Amino acid sequence: MLITESVYAPVRRVARELLEPFGIEVGYFAPDGRDLEAHLQANTRMVYAEVPGSLLYELCDLPAIAALCRPRGILLAVDNTWGSGYLYRPLALGADLSIMALTKYLGGHGDVVMGSVCTREEVWQPLSRMSDALGLTVSPDDAWLVLRGARTLAARLEVHERQALEIAHWLQARPDVGRVYHPALPEHPGHALWQRDFTGSNGLLSFEFAEDDPALAARFVDALRLFGIGASWGGYESLAVLAELSGRGALPTASRSVVRLHVGLDDSASLIADLEQALAVAMAC
Ligand SMILES: *Cc1c(COP(=O)(O)O)cnc(C)c1O
Repeated sequence: MLITESVYAPVRRVARELLEPFGIEVGYFAPDGRDLEAHLQANTRMVYAEVPGSLLYELCDLPAIAALCRPRGILLAVDNTWGSGYLYRPLALGADLSIMALTKYLGGHGDVVMGSVCTREEVWQPLSRMSDALGLTVSPDDAWLVLRGARTLAARLEVHERQALEIAHWLQARPDVGRVYHPALPEHPGHALWQRDFTGSNGLLSFEFAEDDPALAARFVDALRLFGIGASWGGYESLAVLAELSGRGALPTASRSVVRLHVGLDDSASLIADLEQALAVAMAC
């Protein structure tokens, strides 16, 4: 199994603690997919891509990857949580499986944990049998929460997208802020692929400070009032997390401390005021 380096971190743990003990060999490829062909081996059975990648939103060319996988009989699975079934359609672009955390935008209210897998018909039978054998079920109440959240998915995403872009531009204009990562910004290395394959963006963006100082980044996150500290994005709440990035192929990162924001449904002027006061607190020390 070959997994993108930009994968949601707990997937690495599943690979290490579940797949490898069962004899499945796991390797990693660059987030933009440029070295995937060189990694393919005679025993490669699945390629697992996350598009865009977690934290920096690297894009890979899914139809090109599908063209490598299909003739070799390699299954192509995509973590489609970012697009949430609304902004991106991996199966239409050649993937065999599209995996989503419904916990995020589909649920939308931070009150349910659930996942989904959509597949081409031929792939569905073995997956369904295994899911049944493992006893994977969801409760009716949880299913109801996701179905209710799905009704407002489109309307919510419109607000997340507009406000996250507004905040991305505001951050870009700040001298104390360094690089801002968001695939809808023209300077993002994956921007052209995002424009080609996606119908929009969501509430996520990440940024570095002009000066790479982990203590400054930590002070900033601690000083936020309206943004909570939390990893599970996709709900109405605005959230911030501090991430430490260790060398990752596709994007040049001058510094290692990255703040990821999830811009929620709060009023964007209030969110900007919160960012501004937290930057002032962080820079004052
Ligand atoms: C959050 C997330 C998941 C897993 O979500 P759960 O909280 O376990 O439902 C998987 N992939 C990506 C890209 C995520 O952001």
